[in-house]
Formats: sequence, C-alpha cells, structure tokens
Amino acid sequence: MINLLSRLILASVSILGLVSAPSWAADEKSSQKVELIILGAAAGRTSYGGHPDGGFSAAIAVGDIRYIIDFGRGWHDRYYQAGLGTAKYKTGFSGLESVRAAFITHLHSDHVVGYPELLLFGATEGLRRKKEPIQIYGPGSRGSLTPQNINSPSFKEIVNPSSPNPGTKEMTDKIYEAFAADLNDNILDSGMPNPHKYINANDIKIPDTIVPTPDGVPPRMSPFEIYHDELIKVTATLVSHPPMYPSFAFRFDTKKGAIVFSGDTNKSENLIELADNAKILVHEVINHDWANGLFPVPRTEDQVSKLDHLIKSHTDVRDVGEIAEKAKVKHLVLSHLAPPTITDAEWINSVKGFGGRVDVGRALFRVTLE
Ligand SMILES: [Zn+2]
Ligand SMILES: [Zn+2]
Repeated sequence: MINLLSRLILASVSILGLVSAPSWAADEKSSQKVELIILGAAAGRTSYGGHPDGGFSAAIAVGDIRYIIDFGRGWHDRYYQAGLGTAKYKTGFSGLESVRAAFITHLHSDHVVGYPELLLFGATEGLRRKKEPIQIYGPGSRGSLTPQNINSPSFKEIVNPSSPNPGTKEMTDKIYEAFAADLNDNILDSGMPNPHKYINANDIKIPDTIVPTPDGVPPRMSPFEIYHDELIKVTATLVSHPPMYPSFAFRFDTKKGAIVFSGDTNKSENLIELADNAKILVHEVINHDWANGLFPVPRTEDQVSKLDHLIKSHTDVRDVGEIAEKAKVKHLVLSHLAPPTITDAEWINSVKGFGGRVDVGRALFRVTLE
C-alpha cells in the first residue's frame, strides 16, 4: 500500500515536472561509452621545434558523437589518428560529421590556430552530411583594448585598431572572408557549397548579473549553462588569465560523470567550484624554473612583461594538487604543458597534496569514464 502510494505521489510530482531527471544526469548503467581524448598538449605560440604533442585540444566522445574543446596545433590530424573519424576515400572524404559542437576556452592562438581547418576542410570531410550545423561556443569580445603592460611602456603598433579584440563569431566570419579566394574558387569552379552554412558560431553570453572586468580579476561566480543536448550538459565559469578576457573553464556532465577543463588560468576559486566532484579535471600547468630560465637576467622591458604574463596568467604545477583536492576530483590530468619538453615523471612528482590519480595528458592520451 505504502509502495503504491509513494509511486502515485512520485508519478504526480513527475507529471508536474518536479523530479524528472534531466537526460544528461549521471547514469552509470548507460551503455554508451564516454571517452576523453587529448588531441594536443603544449602551451604557447610555438611548436617547440616541432614537438609531437602539438597545441592544446581535446575531444569528448559519447558513443558516435564527438565534442571538441579548443583547436590547438595538429588537432585535426590527431582526430583521425585517435580513430574518432574514418576517412572513406571511396565514397568521399568524411569523418567530421560526428562533431556536434565545439567549445573554445579563450582566443589565444595556441587554442584556435587549428580552428580554420574545421571551417575550411569541414565540408569536404563530412559536414555536408549533417542536418544541423556544428555549434561553436567561444568568448565574445573583451569590449575594450588590452591595457599596456606597465613593465613595457614604449609605443606599440597594434593590429586592426577598428576592432582590436574580435570575439568568436566575428573571428569566424573573418576567417571565411580571409579565405574567400579559395572558397569562391571551390564554389564557382567545383560546385561546392559555401562551408559557412555548416558552422554556427556563438559568443558565450555571460549572465547579466556579472559585471564585466576585462582589466581586473573575474568576480566569484557560480557556473552557468551554455549548452545541453540529450548526451551532455556544458557549464562554464570565468577564470583568471589576464589580460585575456573573457577566458572560460568548461564542465561537461555526461551520463558517466563529469569532465572539467581549466582552460588557461591562474589559481581559480571559480574553477574549484566548477570542478566539484568531477571524475576528471584537465588542468593547465607551468613549470616556473623553465619560465625563469627563458629570460636570463638582465632582462629587457619586453622580456619582463613576457615573464610577468607567464607567471601571473598560468598555474604553477606545484599548486594543481591542492586545487584538485579542494574540488574533490578523482583523476587529475595535467595538460597544456609549459613546456611539453619536461618528462612525465618530473611533472607528476611536482604535484603535491592530491590523493587521486594523476596523469600527464599528452597528445592521444585517452581515458574511458567508468
Ligand atoms: Zn594557452
Ligand atoms: Zn592563453
């Protein structure tokens, strides 16, 4: 009787929509495999002399659907090397049609230099088979020109003064404009469609309650949702990566648990809240000895500003253990390595105060959520 009563109560509450579990809620019995794959792992505007780790990028695969996070150098080749797409040469190239959405943490070029490959090659590699365009979510404009570093006060000639800090949507439109010679050749001579129609770029809308702080520290805030479908829910928070604003960290809740990406940031309380109880935290790291060694004293003004940026805008590897412990995550993956040339053992031995599993997330590192 009690059983019947409680079932009736539950059913009526459910009809009212009060307890209906969202489709992306954790469900350990779900048969769909959820996997994290690192597609690139190095930090900064350099190839480190052709280092095989490439620039930071990652994919989350849920069954046959893929989500991409950042587009560092080499992501596109590693997407195929990881088996995320199958190029069917006999029936036309394909492989990117499985990408449903992509998320850009911030607009430093080490995170977006490979983005044009999706925009320009996508139509050839399967996007024409998609019914819906790929949704891209990334930062909007910072809204004002980046302030000049006080350590380097000499005159600086800036790029594109009429729009010096374009956001994701404007950047996307301009990439298509910049490649018009190639695209129009392909459209008019080979009968290909305009590939822009397969991409829908969105500037992430920060909640109205948050006062923009382009030149300051982002305020403490709770995560806000930017995307969901039947497989995942994506929430974001502002992290501190001065002077790049806005810079985001992302959390992907799947039926097998949550994966969080720090983006580029110094120690961030917003990130710790975002990563609360996540299964995996992919966190950026920098080695301070390496950074100091790049600029031996005496340093020029510009070298002082560069070192200043490296130290203030990134997270010392000796601090990430405490961050992961506070967030109660199970598995810490060190990536966006500054530099990638340090051995795994040295990175891992530098992590202090964390009781969970630690790995170095280099290119093609992968882990299945159990
Ligand atoms: Zn970076
Ligand atoms: Zn950055």
